[in-house]
Amino acid sequence: MSQKLVIDQDSCIGCELCVNICPNVFKMVDGKSHVVDQNGDTSENIEQAIKSCPVQSIRWE
Ligand code: SF4
Repeated sequence: MSQKLVIDQDSCIGCELCVNICPNVFKMVDGKSHVVDQNGDTSENIEQAIKSCPVQSIRWE
């Protein structure tokens, strides 16, 4: 079963860390990060972005 990369819009503080790590996966829209292409980077880099988020807003579900 395929997983979907999601960002919790309520907790995202718009720090842009995930966008800096994976610019092809995440984009800032109105001060919050959004997933634009969950296949836009290596799984290692996406895991790095997930771990780097200071408020744990990024997850696979
Ligand atoms: S790293 Fe987390 S808090 Fe920062 S912009 Fe990305 S999702 Fe939002």
